[in-house]
Amino acid sequence: MYTKLVPRNFNGHNDTTSPQHSKDTKWKIRCSTHTLPTLDILNRHYPLLMNGFNQCFFCENENETNDHLWTCPNIRMTIQQLFIDLSTKLIALLQKHAGQTLTTD
Ligand SMILES: [Zn+2]
Repeated sequence: MYTKLVPRNFNGHNDTTSPQHSKDTKWKIRCSTHTLPTLDILNRHYPLLMNGFNQCFFCENENETNDHLWTCPNIRMTIQQLFIDLSTKLIALLQKHAGQTLTTD
């Protein structure tokens, strides 16, 4: 779902080796490969530490998985508002720079 909205190779930073860029890239890869450290994955890798605790913190009705993270009814409005805010900022950015010529240096 996330990769359909944000291209995997998009770089919003001027520096390709910055810690923030690395963090963003890690997030994109984990989203697209369904490997965000949700409770199901943490239980698989750290069973003694997690002790079988799988329940979603937000709805407490389903196991927390990478799929459930995007479909949980209790955080849907939060995610929706984040995308609305992001789209508002993107539109403002496009309007600000729409008349500028692209350079390739
Ligand atoms: Zn939930």
